[in-house]
Amino acid sequence: MNVERFALPLSRPLETAAGVIEEREGFLVEVDVDGTTGVGEATPLPGWTESLADCEAALRDVPGPVAAIEGDRLDGRPAARHGVSLAVLDARARAAGRPLYRHLGGPTDRRRVPVNATVGDGTPAETAAAAGRAVDDGYPAVKVKVGARSLSADLERLVAVRERCPDVELRADANGAWDTATAERGFDALAPPDVAFVEQPLVAANLAGHADLRGGSVGVALDEGLLEHGIESVVETGAADVVVCKPMALGGVDAARRVAVRAREAGLEAVVTTTIDGAVARAGAVHLAASLPDVGACGLATGDRLAADLRPDVAPVEDGSVAVPQGKGNIPPP
Ligand SMILES: [Mg+2]
Repeated sequence: MNVERFALPLSRPLETAAGVIEEREGFLVEVDVDGTTGVGEATPLPGWTESLADCEAALRDVPGPVAAIEGDRLDGRPAARHGVSLAVLDARARAAGRPLYRHLGGPTDRRRVPVNATVGDGTPAETAAAAGRAVDDGYPAVKVKVGARSLSADLERLVAVRERCPDVELRADANGAWDTATAERGFDALAPPDVAFVEQPLVAANLAGHADLRGGSVGVALDEGLLEHGIESVVETGAADVVVCKPMALGGVDAARRVAVRAREAGLEAVVTTTIDGAVARAGAVHLAASLPDVGACGLATGDRLAADLRPDVAPVEDGSVAVPQGKGNIPPP
């Protein structure tokens, strides 16, 4: 197994739970499975996965890639497991002569996956203008980050978006910023502008609180909470209408697909999003989304967050959807 370190500058700084970062650092992983080469990407994100140092140590310690992902050796190191498992999947899909989304069990011919735009904090006018540009570009869904301002200020922003974009699917992401009382008021207030769901309204620990917020027209989506508790607890407690599946944080495209399939069996929606990864991992996330029939708009339009990339983008965004790569494996060799 070959492990090669990279650092990709971001086009603008990224705010994470663990602070602001200027670049995405990680590892390209190359494996040989029965004579076929496969490539994966391990790009840890502070606050969401193991650290860069732990990821590297885990990767350098892998004796055989297939055994490593079939056993529990990479448990607790989701980015490392993502890199190794994507490389193995790439090799196997390539050997089988089909694109990864079909190798994962997806439909035989899937050309496009709808994506959402993400709009950060700003004034009501700035937020509506950014959402309007996304809709003009063809995006069917817009996710607005909330929680940095008061609830009433965020509500003004969402109403302004709805006025500017009457038909868009509108989502909000609070990243756990609201307390229970604010969330209860928020769910009532966000019904008139027809917000489809709020991602992570409360802190990740509070599954019961999320369960209590459900039942109205505004759905509950879990992102950080899914990672903290796992899909079985989310299903058992009835804490979500939607789960946000991030392959890098969940331990790989295969692991994230198991979560998404389990969620759907239980009647939840699943959407796939990247963690602002390089082109190899982004392609893997696109294949995962493409393997899920009728998946809703996914957070896969993140390539523009990087000022330099590992490879040419094989899943470009156009008119509100990404192209699904149709070549063998995950992404063509360089
Ligand atoms: Mg989120």
